[in-house]
Amino acid sequence: MSQRSLIKISLIDKISEFIPEAQIRQDESMSKHSSFRIGGSADAVVTVCSEEELSKLLKLLHAEDARYMLIGNGSDLLFADEGYRGVIVKLGGDFEHIELLEAVDDVIRAGAARMLSSTANFARDNALAGLEFASGIPGTLGGALFMNAGAYGGEMKDVVESVTLMKSDGSSVYELSGEEMKFSYRDSVLQHNDDIAIYARVRLHRDDKEAIAERMNELAEKRRTKQPVNFPSAGSTFKRPVGGYAAALIEEAGLKGRTVGGAQVSEKHSGFVINIGGATSKDVRELIDIVAQEVEQNSGIKLEPEVRIIDAE
Ligand SMILES: Cc1cc2nc3c(=O)[nH]c(=O)nc-3n(C[C@H](O)[C@H](O)[C@H](O)COP(=O)(O)OP(=O)(O)OC[C@H]3O[C@@H](n4cnc5c(N)ncnc54)[C@H](O)[C@@H]3O)c2cc1C
Repeated sequence: MSQRSLIKISLIDKISEFIPEAQIRQDESMSKHSSFRIGGSADAVVTVCSEEELSKLLKLLHAEDARYMLIGNGSDLLFADEGYRGVIVKLGGDFEHIELLEAVDDVIRAGAARMLSSTANFARDNALAGLEFASGIPGTLGGALFMNAGAYGGEMKDVVESVTLMKSDGSSVYELSGEEMKFSYRDSVLQHNDDIAIYARVRLHRDDKEAIAERMNELAEKRRTKQPVNFPSAGSTFKRPVGGYAAALIEEAGLKGRTVGGAQVSEKHSGFVINIGGATSKDVRELIDIVAQEVEQNSGIKLEPEVRIIDAE
């Protein structure tokens, strides 16, 4: 047995010994955990369901100096064909809880693992407006906080009142106000420390349920007609550059429909690189490089990927 697998087994053994409640999936394909449906196996995917379990896991990973990454719904991630050497951490259980804070009118408190769509539906069902923009974003609340996800003129920055975080070494839990989250375009403080968002308070406002539902339906229809929702992708591949739109620049460079292996610049929306079948991570990376290079040659504008590329080691 190789040294690597001995190390791997001993860490996994420790995780199951110290946190017997944790769900551990060894050699798990990351294609099952990414909306691109791409990626080789991670050494382990570990799901924890409470603050106590998460804290124990982070303490252990730090003590063992183990490589790890927390993910939400994997809707902004491109894993490597070689997978991920280390532990992928996912949140479940308590972190999916959602409640309306009756004492504080118009505030929802939700766990970071709660899907944004379900959070928006909960808001609508309670006649609370403000999250319509987020209803079609296929990520978790945690991923949306990390990215300051936004669409159709709204962004998380507009609605987040405060966030509860756990230190990356599992040692403590603390609060940040919306302002302290330092939200800006596809950025937040979470991208600059390794801490983990575990809950958020979202401030909304009262409105008519039917009117909220109508706005959500309109936005869903816009997505269906404009975006390649039938193909696996990670949404907009590139960030919006200063002074332009990625999709328009890509189209102007004649890249619509450009294909590398199973990866394609969508014919429906040039801002999306999609998996048209059997795309490898390498295909997507190559296509991203080609697009960035050719757009820069054509327009002088440098496109930065919005999708987060995760190396195997
Ligand atoms: C079809 C499609 C449409 C999309 N449309 C939009 C859109 O309109 N607007 C938009 O902004 N995005 C869009 N996206 C991209 C994506 O859905 C968002 O970026 C989303 O916020 C990512 O959430 P996630 O849970 O999937 O995060 P993941 O992809 O799992 O993770 C993203 C990053 O967040 C970090 N993270 C996740 N949870 C936490 C946490 N609890 N604490 C700390 N860090 C955390 C991860 O470590 C990772 O670095 C789209 C994607 C797809 C596939």
